[in-house]
Amino acid sequence: MTRLIDSTACVCDAQLWLTTLEHMLQQVNGHSLGSDAQDRASLKRDLREFLGGEVPLHQLDDLTKVNPVTLETVLRCLQARYTEDIFYTNAGCTLVALNPFKHIPQLYAPELMQEYHAAPQPQKLKPHIFTVGEQTYRNVKSLMEPINQSIVVSGESGAGKTWTSRCLMKFYAVVAASPTSCENQTTAERIEQRILNSNPVMEAFGNACTLRNNNSSRFGKFIQLQLNRAQQMTGAAVQTYLLEKTRVACQASSERNFHIFYQICKGATEDERLQWYLPEGTAFSWLPNPESSLEEDGFEVTREAMLHLGIDTPAQNNIFKVLAGLLHLGNVHFVDSEDEAQPCPLMDGTKVSVRTSALLLQLPENMLLESMQIRTIKAGKQQQVFQKPCSRAECDTRRDCLAKLIYAKLFDWLVSVINSSICADSSSWTAFIGLLDVYGFESFPDNSLEQLCINYANEKLQQHFVAHYLRAQQEEYEAEGLEWSFVNYQDNQTCLDLLEGSPVSICSLINEECRLNRPSSAAQLQTRIESSLAGRPCLGRNKLSREPSFVVVHFAGPVRYHTAGLVEKNKDPVPPELTGLLQQSQDPLLRMLFPASPEEKAQEELCGQSRAPALTVVSKFKASLEQLLQVLHNTTPHYIRCIKPNSQSQPQTFLQEEVLNQLEACGLVETIHISAAGFPIRASLCSSGCPGTHSVDQAVSHQNFIERYKLLRRLRPRASSGLRGMGPARRSSGLSDNICFGGLCLQRGTRQLTLELLESGRAQML
Ligand code: ADP
Ligand code: MG
Repeated sequence: MTRLIDSTACVCDAQLWLTTLEHMLQQVNGHSLGSDAQDRASLKRDLREFLGGEVPLHQLDDLTKVNPVTLETVLRCLQARYTEDIFYTNAGCTLVALNPFKHIPQLYAPELMQEYHAAPQPQKLKPHIFTVGEQTYRNVKSLMEPINQSIVVSGESGAGKTWTSRCLMKFYAVVAASPTSCENQTTAERIEQRILNSNPVMEAFGNACTLRNNNSSRFGKFIQLQLNRAQQMTGAAVQTYLLEKTRVACQASSERNFHIFYQICKGATEDERLQWYLPEGTAFSWLPNPESSLEEDGFEVTREAMLHLGIDTPAQNNIFKVLAGLLHLGNVHFVDSEDEAQPCPLMDGTKVSVRTSALLLQLPENMLLESMQIRTIKAGKQQQVFQKPCSRAECDTRRDCLAKLIYAKLFDWLVSVINSSICADSSSWTAFIGLLDVYGFESFPDNSLEQLCINYANEKLQQHFVAHYLRAQQEEYEAEGLEWSFVNYQDNQTCLDLLEGSPVSICSLINEECRLNRPSSAAQLQTRIESSLAGRPCLGRNKLSREPSFVVVHFAGPVRYHTAGLVEKNKDPVPPELTGLLQQSQDPLLRMLFPASPEEKAQEELCGQSRAPALTVVSKFKASLEQLLQVLHNTTPHYIRCIKPNSQSQPQTFLQEEVLNQLEACGLVETIHISAAGFPIRASLCSSGCPGTHSVDQAVSHQNFIERYKLLRRLRPRASSGLRGMGPARRSSGLSDNICFGGLCLQRGTRQLTLELLESGRAQML
């Protein structure tokens, strides 16, 4: 009963129905309804006004209100709103956020935060991320036992996920600020500020300028904002996923390395330049397109933020010195060796780069060089050690591997330092709000392991979303005795079975291929996928491709993955000589990142190379994804879908085609169908007793509803044209033009009134 509309109805109907009941109640209380023609006329007039004409498209705050719900209507509504500078729109239980690509300070002003925070019903205000933020916040509070919440922010690169998460963090820093009693704390020392400080640091080290976003996060992030019983933020914990470490040594054309490298080169003082061997105008192979972005200006901001996170200036300098060492390492190039038995010589003029790099990384110069040029092989029963010169390509791979190894370790270490600086001890928080900012669905002309992992994560999240949402609805409907059949939503279990199921799946086959370690793994992988997984519904037909590949039909669309290099990427091998080398470093930071514990060494020697194989990228990712989903399962989730109106990052530009692709890719129309197919609008009575509707939890209870409107039981529908006698088929087909209730005949508006509920409501009340 507290759900007011059926699959064809909308908020207006529900609101109308409530208003009608309310009017009736007033009239009944005045003993006038049904007897006073004038009152009846005035009620009719009110209702007619309420029904009014068509609402202008841009005024539809919720996409479930567009009629009918199709990609086109949803698109038109979003465009109409965008044209009016309205960037947020509800879509049932999801918030759609269009990227304005222009700064609108008043949209994120602290005053506005307070307004949403103070509103009796924030959902009645304009759709905004602050509505989601505030409702999430209240959900923690409103319950006897705090329940963890999560906000899943998704969308493609450049759509605004990181911006949105950052804004939500700022929102909580304002509304959930810890008490002002700690007056002796400076702003920067305050926990909220420290949490906010984690953003510039993580972005400097983990973001880069790409073709699609000048400030693209190259890692996934889940941050838990920890709240105490008084709803104050006492700390936070960050978890990151799948840093794109390849970028440190390899950038696509027109793309750049991580911001921090540019920040150092641009922001270092004269003195620091001398220390880090960064004379003005030095060209670095790993620092392409040095002139094209503004993000490099943040060195001071990064340093300041690091300082507040507890990384003092000497520690910072150590980090920057190591990073400068990596830049010089990138300038080391080899040429082919004329004699295969001899190591590849250095390219002319790059010896100085080896020397400088070794100096900065505090490694013996010859060891550094040899670790790239020469491979150590253990073979035979005695595990004899052989040395074999590497080819030029292998030298390059090893050089890059060294850089990736150092950078990835450094990044993880930074995250752990951030965590130890902002994480509250477990006794000082009782619930958390999790913000998930992960890469959205990706489909490029050339897709590899990275896209496979990202799309796999998106499949998991989509399943979580649908399952959570449908389950929650089902439970509530059952509790209220409502009959409701679920629409046929796209179940992506078959796709997940294909990706990760047992006993055989794409992931298991990729891992298997790594284990077998055979040449021509790319072709083998394709063959195995085709033979072992033949007939799986989500394995697309693989024609038209000359290179070995396979196609997965994801919920967001089909993607072709090329198998060349995929197995190698999955192995992500680290030659033991490289780890061994780094353990020789005299640099305090590197010593900490690569400790050479005596136990480890002894172990290594005992076991030779027969140690357990390292976990593959896919296995590690799968494990961290499962962990994340476990956490999400134990929270009440909220969803924000970010949409990029154009790929040129231009304001005032809404490119239908591009938006359409994203609507499809995030399954938005599907989501709206699910929302609209249920009863997304619930009755709510505010404290003063006035009725209202809203599209999120916290509905009025069935009992309260009956209590309020039981007076109306005296009203009887007219037998002739009322609801009585209308079978379910007729009801759901919406054939009835009018609804008569209590002697009043309501003209049908553009929407169908809630026949079923009216009837079941009436049955309850009579
Ligand atoms: P994503 O994390 O989804 O890749 P970002 O959050 O980094 O994307 O957003 C990309 C860029 O778009 C930002 O750097 C910013 O310039 C712009 N942007 C995103 N959201 C907004 C917003 N709400 N208002 C103004 N600019 C925005
Ligand atoms: Mg981002």
